[in-house]
Amino acid sequence: MDYRKLLQLPQSCVHRLINHHLSWLGLVATLPLFGLVTAFAVAPNGDKPEPPRIDVESVTQRLALPVHTSSISTTPYWRDEQIQRGETLGRLLNRLGVGDGEAQRFLNSSPLSKNLLKLKAGQTLSVQTNDAGELFGLRFLNDDENGEMVMVAIEKANGEWRASADPLETQAIQTMRSVSIESGSASVALSRAGVPSDIRAQLNEIFADRFDLASLQPGDRINLVFESLLFNGSPIANGNLLAAEIERSGQSYRAYYFAHDSESGAYYDENGNSVKKGFSQQPVSGARISSGFGMRYHPVLHSLRMHKGVDYAAGTGTPIIAPADGVITTAETQSGYGNVVVIRHNTKMSTLYGHMSRFAAGMRAGKSVKAGELIGYVGSTGRSTGPHLHFEVRINDEAVDPSTAALPTPGLSASQRLAFRQTSVKLSSNLKLLRELPVTVAQLD
Ligand SMILES: [Zn+2]
Repeated sequence: MDYRKLLQLPQSCVHRLINHHLSWLGLVATLPLFGLVTAFAVAPNGDKPEPPRIDVESVTQRLALPVHTSSISTTPYWRDEQIQRGETLGRLLNRLGVGDGEAQRFLNSSPLSKNLLKLKAGQTLSVQTNDAGELFGLRFLNDDENGEMVMVAIEKANGEWRASADPLETQAIQTMRSVSIESGSASVALSRAGVPSDIRAQLNEIFADRFDLASLQPGDRINLVFESLLFNGSPIANGNLLAAEIERSGQSYRAYYFAHDSESGAYYDENGNSVKKGFSQQPVSGARISSGFGMRYHPVLHSLRMHKGVDYAAGTGTPIIAPADGVITTAETQSGYGNVVVIRHNTKMSTLYGHMSRFAAGMRAGKSVKAGELIGYVGSTGRSTGPHLHFEVRINDEAVDPSTAALPTPGLSASQRLAFRQTSVKLSSNLKLLRELPVTVAQLD
């Protein structure tokens, strides 16, 4: 029996049904329905309508079952895998089906440092595999010796496992948030609105000289524009908070980020005046910042760098001074930071000085220091590639950008003012857009 003819289904439709995996089931299931329609269509249609006579005939037809081909695809695809507690790369490779000897041979011969291949529990890896469970490669993000985030790629080529570590190619986009304080604190409202904790810490510091963010009341509003760094289309890190506006008790406060160079910047109001005073001195006088803070996109290298402080370029033996009054909480030798001093300035803020060649006389925990007092000398102790001061600022134990949070904010030169005006006008129109949105939490990205 030719079902195609009987049902007069469009050939393309039949073709589609037959080619579809479970379509035979669907075709059989629809038969009674089509049969009924056909019956009405052939009923006699005279002047005197007679009740339609329906011939019912049972037909038993043996239908051949479609051949089910279980097609295990050999096409490789990527999926995510999480590192389990206590799992090493070798064990992970075993779990994914790579033989013990093979995984071990690869790990022993890998040109990458042991640190780059060290995995943390919960870390996500992308695994390239196929339906047959064959492993072709895996990729994950890790920090290299310089604190730069790199993409570690382990791939099988011509039967041999190979590894490489390269800077990430990321893309920076602007994320905008508008947050109304309804009830509760500003920090709860910001967190509910999905504003990341490092951006919240930056925001806290920008206006710290004027007011505490905790003093915001229901009805006040915060508008933010910040950088999100995307990798393969997914956000993996935040860059700078580019513009912030706080409407507090009917008064508006605005701040715009201006980069002095590729490594540091500060916040200015719409007239180009610095928003925050900061320390009155730098820890190394006259030195330039050779490496900036944070997870930031490097416009030339197209890479993402993660750095918890700033580095000052200075020769071994250059004096390091306390930039503000405080009490020393740490003066010791550590494996990473080398000779390191930590100063607590108030209940919220502390600063750290790493890689010193030596301490100034009398440096010990509990000692009070005054702004401008010598605390040690620039060096290259600990994990360091050359003489420099690694300087960190922590607010409530969260590392913040020293150049925007603590260091003296330099005034803008005439040409910098011009450049500032150009960037701030664009950011200001973004803030205006946010201001005019009549919702509690706005998200524009
Ligand atoms: Zn550093």
